[in-house]
Amino acid sequence: MRTFAHGFNRFRSGEALMINPIKIQLSKIEKNTIDPEMLAFAAPIKCIHCYFNDYIPTQFYLVTPGVETYDEHDELSRIVRGQLGHNKFTSMYCDLGDVICVTRCPQCGSEDVF
Ligand SMILES: [Zn+2]
Repeated sequence: MRTFAHGFNRFRSGEALMINPIKIQLSKIEKNTIDPEMLAFAAPIKCIHCYFNDYIPTQFYLVTPGVETYDEHDELSRIVRGQLGHNKFTSMYCDLGDVICVTRCPQCGSEDVF
């Protein structure tokens, strides 16, 4: 049963790729290229697990092409997980285009920081 389920998952992901051949690229961008107002909005303040509230480092990536549909957003989530190892990200739209921001608590490693 487990083998069947595993095979089924692999089939499903192959199928999704054929239906939806989007190629989303992530390019790391420096914080200082982003509008300070956007940064203030994206900057994490506190970890909800360990209450760490000192400086929490954040990385920004430009998403090209930008994501519009649910399918593209799913694909972006998959790429963020695969390439960056993050399960969560914040998206924002700024003058550069679609930008995502990923972060992790430096104390406990949780991504639940706000
Ligand atoms: Zn933490």
